[in-house]
Amino acid sequence: MMSRKPITIAGGGLAGLTLGIGLRQRDVPVTIWEAGSYPRHRVCGEFISGNGQLVLERLGLLAQCHRAGAVYAHTALFVCGTNRSPVRRLDPPALCLSRHALDALLAETFARAGGELRVNTRWSQAQAAEGLVLASGRRPQTGGNSPRWFGVKAHVPRDCPVALTADLEMYVSDHGYVGINRIGGGEVNVCGLFRAEDGRRTESRPDWLRGGADSLLRERLQAAAFDPASFCSVGGLQLKPQRAAARPECCIGDAQTMTPPVTGNGMSMAFESAEMAIGPLAEYSAGRGDWATARREIARRCDEAFGRRLAWARLLQKVMLSPAMQGGWGAVCLRSEWLWRLLYTRTR
Ligand SMILES: Cc1cc2nc3c(=O)[nH]c(=O)nc-3n(C[C@H](O)[C@H](O)[C@H](O)COP(=O)(O)OP(=O)(O)OC[C@H]3O[C@@H](n4cnc5c(N)ncnc54)[C@H](O)[C@@H]3O)c2cc1C
Repeated sequence: MMSRKPITIAGGGLAGLTLGIGLRQRDVPVTIWEAGSYPRHRVCGEFISGNGQLVLERLGLLAQCHRAGAVYAHTALFVCGTNRSPVRRLDPPALCLSRHALDALLAETFARAGGELRVNTRWSQAQAAEGLVLASGRRPQTGGNSPRWFGVKAHVPRDCPVALTADLEMYVSDHGYVGINRIGGGEVNVCGLFRAEDGRRTESRPDWLRGGADSLLRERLQAAAFDPASFCSVGGLQLKPQRAAARPECCIGDAQTMTPPVTGNGMSMAFESAEMAIGPLAEYSAGRGDWATARREIARRCDEAFGRRLAWARLLQKVMLSPAMQGGWGAVCLRSEWLWRLLYTRTR
């Protein structure tokens, strides 16, 4: 058999594992370095919306997600202050599965396909090197003037049901939002993104998720008890879009650029960018192209696929979190079917 050049992936999250699986399907030798281990909870709405579902299907992973308990979210409802949208159809529906299950199933699939997975092993060598792909997730926020973004997530277990009017309910205030959705096995994910201008908030993290006194969110979660083992939080999120071509490293997923989580499209982008990298890396590995060509091609594909989407995503986040959404303007926006369709389709 022709000898193939190896690929090293720094980061075994969704992007790194999906790329690893795709490369193993083409007989490329792959090692993934993962700082943590599996299974583990991640801060995430666990709501896969967009082309990423097609990537999972093409790589033969969608059926495994279903076997692991994934469910579809067909409807969504948005609440801004006292304004509510009608229940909207999600077309196509989103796939919901806990990251606890999803990351573990991808890790198992990669190892079964002959990939080498080094868990609890942090990549701390060069960031840009031949044969190295960075899939190490979000980059820390830099720059003192921009708001600080924090993510918090917890599950409500099946024996403590939350009565939802839609499969996904989003509660938006002018300093963040909380999404509530079913994730299979009767569990409910409650995940929020919050802006703190000075990086500090006085409430406890469960209280961030429960919302302000007298809010509709607090009413919805009144009887809910969070599973303490599922609690996680993350800070210093960099939400400014980045161009892959501007980077010297070969990056995929959040390591390349992060879309505002309000879109529910970040996991999809991780799957999509991983798939876009498979072909060029397999060519490089087989000796049919050099590293610089592979890296440039991956960056070109990602920038072409994501550039416009990221611009719309930024606009969506600005509109959703604008204080005007809590007043009369918000009531008009939330009722507009045209605006809903436009923003839903352009951000995925
Ligand atoms: C509040 C919030 C809500 C979200 N909700 C949704 C949602 O509902 N739907 C959606 O599609 N997206 C959502 N996202 C985004 C989604 O979680 C990310 O886009 C997705 O996880 C990106 O996958 P990734 O593989 O690039 O990064 P990650 O999943 O973060 O994986 C990176 C991996 O790299 C490892 N790592 C880091 N550094 C190193 C190192 N030096 N060496 C070795 N390993 C390393 C980490 O341990 C981690 O396992 C949300 C994000 C946030 C913050």
